[in-house]
Amino acid sequence: MEELLERLLEECRPFAAQGRVADYIPELAKADPGALGIYVIGSEGRHSWAGDCRQPFTIQSIIKPILLLQALLDNGVEEVQRRVGVEATGKPFDAINASEQSLDGSHLNPMVNMGAIVMCSLIRGGSYEERFQRLLELTRQLTGEETLEVNEAVYRSEKSHGSKNRALAYLLKSYGLLEGDVEDVLNCYFRACSIQVDCRALAHVGAVLSNRGRMPVSNRRVFPSSLARYVNAILMTCGMYNGSGEFAIRVGVPAKSGVAGGIMAVVPTRMGVGIYAPSLDRKGNSLAGSRMLERLSGELYLSIF
Ligand code: GLU
Repeated sequence: MEELLERLLEECRPFAAQGRVADYIPELAKADPGALGIYVIGSEGRHSWAGDCRQPFTIQSIIKPILLLQALLDNGVEEVQRRVGVEATGKPFDAINASEQSLDGSHLNPMVNMGAIVMCSLIRGGSYEERFQRLLELTRQLTGEETLEVNEAVYRSEKSHGSKNRALAYLLKSYGLLEGDVEDVLNCYFRACSIQVDCRALAHVGAVLSNRGRMPVSNRRVFPSSLARYVNAILMTCGMYNGSGEFAIRVGVPAKSGVAGGIMAVVPTRMGVGIYAPSLDRKGNSLAGSRMLERLSGELYLSIF
């Protein structure tokens, strides 16, 4: 496996030069566009890796499936689905999804920003500090990294350049879809996106989802298998922004990307994969990362279709 990963890494390295690192906030624009790493955790617990797989980066949108899990654990499927729908939007992650029709929960999706902002408000807790801590705790469990923390510089950058997310949140509020103080909810969302991870941490989350809610090796259950099915299905249809259809054809496994260049992929019953390659394509997906996954899927017959 290591040999295969090394080979894929070298084959896909040239793609890194074709994309662009995210620059919607100054802190992310500092990333090294040539960084490239991959980490795989198999269902039997075997770890394999290549490249810059321990380099830290912020989780960004890959927090969305974890946010969804937390919301599901706290409220149950019915209530979450009543507030945030499950249909693909086919639009960019930060699209203002409103037209002349009034907005309702069924227009939202947990993998795009409006839905994710509502999910922050669904986490149980007396204060937003407590809600965020509970989300961080679940993220630590799922990544197997007890010391994960927020990257404060990225958080401050998200917060001070967050006009678009602020617009989305106030729009939700105006339609009665968001309860509580908008700025508190947004701070929780910005902090959640700024949690610092690496490829191993993402591979671990993927491994738990591939194992239908059980930790690799110990087999300890973190969440019910029905929730793994719910989250994996949404990742399959909406995890790669408005490139999810193309990704389903080329790679064929549930996955989530983030604008910092991470991808977390779930190969049901077989493995979790974490990737870092910060140079992005026009839809915001890691360019070299998607190519590495496509080749890995081809070599190991990973597509679920
Ligand atoms: N913090 C980012 C935002 O909401 C996350 C975007 C992403 O990774 O898709 O703008």
